[in-house]
Amino acid sequence: MAVLVVFNLIALVSFAQQGGVKDESMKDALRPYEILATDAIGNPTFIDFISTKVKSDDTSVYEFLKTIYGFDENTTFVEKEGSAKEQNGIFSKKLFQHYKGIKVEWGQIVVTYKDGFLRSVNGHFTPTKNSRTVPLTPVDNAIKNTIQKIGAEEYAWENMYLQKMLREETQNPKATYYPTAELLLMDKNINEGETDVRLVYKFDIYALSPESHKEYFVDATTGEIVYEESLIMHVGGSGDTRYSGKQTFETQLFNGSYRLHDYTRGNGIITYDLRGNDGYAPFWDFTNSDVNNWWSSAVYNNAARDDAALDAYWGAEMTYDYFLEKHERNSWDRNGARIENYVHSSIDNTRIADWSRNNLSTVGKIRYGDNDELDGNPWTCIDLVGHEFGHDIEATTSQISSFNNYEGGALREGLSDIWGAMVKFYAKPLNTSIYAHGSDVSAFRNMSQPNLHSDPDTYQANHWVFEGNTTNLYPNHTNSAVLSHWFYILAEGIQQQMQ
Ligand SMILES: [Zn+2]
Repeated sequence: MAVLVVFNLIALVSFAQQGGVKDESMKDALRPYEILATDAIGNPTFIDFISTKVKSDDTSVYEFLKTIYGFDENTTFVEKEGSAKEQNGIFSKKLFQHYKGIKVEWGQIVVTYKDGFLRSVNGHFTPTKNSRTVPLTPVDNAIKNTIQKIGAEEYAWENMYLQKMLREETQNPKATYYPTAELLLMDKNINEGETDVRLVYKFDIYALSPESHKEYFVDATTGEIVYEESLIMHVGGSGDTRYSGKQTFETQLFNGSYRLHDYTRGNGIITYDLRGNDGYAPFWDFTNSDVNNWWSSAVYNNAARDDAALDAYWGAEMTYDYFLEKHERNSWDRNGARIENYVHSSIDNTRIADWSRNNLSTVGKIRYGDNDELDGNPWTCIDLVGHEFGHDIEATTSQISSFNNYEGGALREGLSDIWGAMVKFYAKPLNTSIYAHGSDVSAFRNMSQPNLHSDPDTYQANHWVFEGNTTNLYPNHTNSAVLSHWFYILAEGIQQQMQ
């Protein structure tokens, strides 16, 4: 209590020193009220009414604010739609400041009242007297110049799938991500001692590559960008993965909900939902509106098995971390290349997870099937993520030809199984099935005992698929066991008589 009193006194003293109330003659008539806080230019931001003497009708409130802030008739206030509330007989509402009909950004005041008299006034008022209200720069130019300055390769409105999703969500066939501007007045120096009010266009631009989503304030007189604010926020989330228990991961707060986008690792790790599509599009975001950003099994272990997306996502983060930490490799291309996961693919059962990248692209895409024909556990467990990511590394480094699936392709599959095991060991060191590839979804290769799954443990030995054998359609996934078994022996230090 003592602390509070001291604070109030300081606020009162500092306000008194700076003048504050503009119309001295009104001062006595309006008492008693107490100014508890002021902003950088000395305007009150919190006024408490000791006894209730100011009426709460619109005209009385306007006259009171005019006395406090000293504005002229060009200033008006518009009640925020839906802001009026009542609790225990105390009413409140939020007012937006306008000047000559133009909204003043960040100018908003909340008034509370009871029994027809004011109880408190708080908020921020921006002095706008004599501000320019007619733009000189056409709005189209302001938007186009800003887009040019951003210089992205692709914007959201150029992406037909995002546009389509937006139109579905808003049920507006004309909805677009292309920016629309609002004309506003804003104080460029809002937290400083001297105001600098500008007439600005405010609009947001959503760029996909490189990713940025920002709100821009462009001076409607000079055309310069006076302020920009990112609409993208990184927030740590956590959830119940399908195969690896509770895990934490980075997410992104976007349009009021969290989604599986991580831009803290390289140029991003993103996980999309294909909803049973065969290709890579259309795709959707997995979203979560839980205030704690908790992705619970109660919600995501649903009929669609969406919790499997968390495994692919967390698995890709762990894969990225493993290569960075253990091999000093920033994503597969050493340059932070983006990793995109596509979950719930309907690719056929023999290629249940796969990767693709065209030679010029800086995005590695991994698709994961739902495994409906077997046990219905989507193939997103961590060693499969490490395996597919590994194919990107092989493609950008060794360039071993996978043309010959009996040997070259087998080396690549062997390397990928090794990386899958290493990533699994890195992320889940207590796991007892490190060498059983895909053990979380029912193992289908075993690096310690290849013969268990009819794979060879030695070059050209039992189970080896010789060139010309056309009954085994995927000899690369069989002959790969020779290399991965060699790695097992090396890693465990086993002396073994080879077949
Ligand atoms: Zn593979």
